[in-house]
Amino acid sequence: MIDSAYETTNRFLQRAFDLLKLDELRQTLLRTPSREVRVELIMRHDDGTLGHYIGYRVQHDDARGPYKGGLRYHPEANIDEVRSLASLMTWKTALLDVPFGGAKGGIQCDPSKLTPWELERLTRSFVEKIGELIGPVKDIPAPDMNTNAQVMGWIFDEYAKRYGFEPAVVTGKPLELHGSFGREAATGRGCLHALTLVLEADGKKLAGTRIALQGFGNVGSWFARLAHERKAKIVAVSDVRGAVFKGDGLDITALLEHSRATGSVQGFEGGTSLPADQLLAVECDVLVPAALGHVLTEQTARDVRAAYVLEAANSPCTFDGDRVLQERGITCLPDIWVNAGGVTVSYFEWTQNTQHFRWKESEVNARLESFIGSAHDILRTTMQRYDCDMRTAAFVVAVQRVNEATQLRGLG
Ligand code: NAD
Repeated sequence: MIDSAYETTNRFLQRAFDLLKLDELRQTLLRTPSREVRVELIMRHDDGTLGHYIGYRVQHDDARGPYKGGLRYHPEANIDEVRSLASLMTWKTALLDVPFGGAKGGIQCDPSKLTPWELERLTRSFVEKIGELIGPVKDIPAPDMNTNAQVMGWIFDEYAKRYGFEPAVVTGKPLELHGSFGREAATGRGCLHALTLVLEADGKKLAGTRIALQGFGNVGSWFARLAHERKAKIVAVSDVRGAVFKGDGLDITALLEHSRATGSVQGFEGGTSLPADQLLAVECDVLVPAALGHVLTEQTARDVRAAYVLEAANSPCTFDGDRVLQERGITCLPDIWVNAGGVTVSYFEWTQNTQHFRWKESEVNARLESFIGSAHDILRTTMQRYDCDMRTAAFVVAVQRVNEATQLRGLG
């Protein structure tokens, strides 16, 4: 039986607890979310009918700073998944040493079936329900799957109407509404920088590296664009509707245009089409899951034909999938490090908002790379010290930091 999302996160976390020899009570304190909120959202559709939706916000830990985490709109969003993602945010912010805790939110809905007006009303009704719990020094939402700068703009506006002007209440906002340069590309850029550091450490170069990519949304498309600029070869790309393949590398600029025009990579004439479920088994150097969680299971991990897996998505590996990758000698670059570019630049956006000052894009990008690089340095030292894989090292560093902050505050 496959573990639930939250169980998977806890099993990865347990490896760090064991290495650090934490007692049972401390483990429970660190594992347990601080607050879980479930709200009923009633929204009138454009045709006059009433829609009924459920939204969640889980605030996992705030020992190191305000809760921070994205908001996901998905038909399968549920409390277990949100709880797992909130916990991952606690460890991600700690590993990157940004002064936040961890949270996550979700609304169970299918945004592809909602009009922009309906999405706006749904978002505003969510802020109406959770508004008291969020704020610049309380809990700061951001984009995730199927949410974007526009959705963040609505959150900013609805919060401002109720509580006053506070741009730092939400990050990933449009540039025109106090957003940061570089935020939209940040997660993809951070993933690419993490990959470059690992390849360099292994005596390899990004140029010419063959990459297969699952997901062509915010994270996947920015990663592809930047990797293509740096002469990596993106040999396959999939999205929810289909996949395309070209052995000597897809023309990513043309693929982006096609995807923008048609809404999918499917039907792109610059490559051959592939069933989307075969993407994970494409022969390449680096496999990049950048869509859903739990796609690399015990079974699918056996079919991976890559030397590295770069976890651009959150939680793409199940616990057993991760074990199979390790047994097969495939290096897994863990989500809480590689995809932390988004929350890092969200922190920069929050900092700029609180300073009422805008940084240049070059400054944002340079600082982002520096944060990803510092985390890489401590990961390497920790892997050596505890003789462990990179994911376990990431959890060890993060758990130590959260545990220390918790104790210093006298909270445990
Ligand atoms: P998005 O909604 O912009 O894009 C999701 C992409 O995945 C789309 O191309 C969609 O077609 C594709 N997809 C969905 N189901 C699929 C399937 N079954 N097979 C193949 N492709 C499928 O979302 P995003 O913001 O790019 O987020 C992607 C992942 O990265 C998520 O796991 C998210 O939690 C994680 N993440 C996002 C950010 C961020 O800043 N946006 C930060 C950290 C982690």
